[in-house]
Amino acid sequence: MSRAFGYAAITKSDPLVPYSFERRDVGPNDVQIEILFCGVCHSDIHQARDEWSGSIYPMVPGHEIVGKVTSVGSAVTKFVIGDTVGVGVFIDSCRICKSCTQGEEQYCDNGETIFTYNAKYKDGSIVYGGYSNQIVVDENYTLKISPSLNLAAAAPLLCAGITTYSPMRHWGVGSGQRVGIVGLGGLGHMALKFAHSLGAHVTQFTTSLSKEQDAKRLGANEVILTRDPEVLKKAAGSFDFILDTVSAPHDLGQYLSLLKRDGHMVLVGLPSESSTVSAFTLAGKRLSLSGSIIGGIAQTQEMLDYCAEHNIVSDIEVIPIQIINEAFEKVIKSDVKYRFVIDMASLKDE
Ligand code: NAP
Ligand code: ZN
Ligand code: ZN
Repeated sequence: MSRAFGYAAITKSDPLVPYSFERRDVGPNDVQIEILFCGVCHSDIHQARDEWSGSIYPMVPGHEIVGKVTSVGSAVTKFVIGDTVGVGVFIDSCRICKSCTQGEEQYCDNGETIFTYNAKYKDGSIVYGGYSNQIVVDENYTLKISPSLNLAAAAPLLCAGITTYSPMRHWGVGSGQRVGIVGLGGLGHMALKFAHSLGAHVTQFTTSLSKEQDAKRLGANEVILTRDPEVLKKAAGSFDFILDTVSAPHDLGQYLSLLKRDGHMVLVGLPSESSTVSAFTLAGKRLSLSGSIIGGIAQTQEMLDYCAEHNIVSDIEVIPIQIINEAFEKVIKSDVKYRFVIDMASLKDE
């Protein structure tokens, strides 16, 4: 065991506080990583506050991890000490089911995807995430990060990046298509960058007037302010694909009605409350409404390599870990441009 320290939620209603814990010994297939940066995902807030229920405490959140390898197990072949690496939203799975063998480990058919925090290892011990100084992960669930990327700005690729890249690849987003992105937050701004990079004509939907210029800079051909339902009506029937990244309950029907016949709307935002959809809205134009979570290890590596090739990273605000609770409040108010990333050099062994 080795000593680790970070910040944890001890209960669902208290702020995060400094917290010490143990990481397992480096096993034959493990790499030990000194964490340099960790992104702040809205899922960290949902889980720290038990908004999805079933949260496990103490919880050290964080699943957008970038760091350097400091130790490798005897059987490790993919990494050497000093490599720049990433860890995303899960750190193990059954490895033998159809989903795992097809590179879709996040949908493990045996339900054995082990998430990076708010989860338990097979021995029942708690899995702690990336708001911490170091982590030990199996090399097969560790990603290579090009050192050419800005490492702080690359951290959000490990969740916000793959979560938006994966459905665009799955549903074949590309040139000649009209694509809508709903919500311009951490996921939304990465979705916008990918859709633009893949050659689609992109419309950004936002509730925030202050984000209009940014949306255009990030690749939007058009920006629609959704506070005015009349403006949305004018866009009816014009989209092939809509990716919904919104973290709070909202009316899905108003976006479904923007799709063309046979259009797809994919939900990646995960509000805790359920939504209702009219069967007439879907049936009337043979529409599909789907959902998607993150992406498999192979596709995450593909996305990271795509980002290195196309020089895509997140737009970030780097913060010391001591203001993590204020950062959570700002994320809830949609007041971040567009991802907070913790500089782990700020973390002290308290
Ligand atoms: P975020 O940075 O807070 O962005 C969410 C955006 O949603 C906000 O910037 C805002 O965009 C919009 N929004 C917020 N409240 C709204 C409201 N009441 N009505 C309408 N729009 C609202 O969060 P994130 O980190 O991108 O995560 C977004 C969601 O995706 C969260 O629920 C998170 O848990 C989930 N998530 C899912 C996956 C997955 O695998 N499926 C992975 C990561 C995260 P505007 O200011 O532009 O309106
Ligand atoms: Zn996330
Ligand atoms: Zn499996």
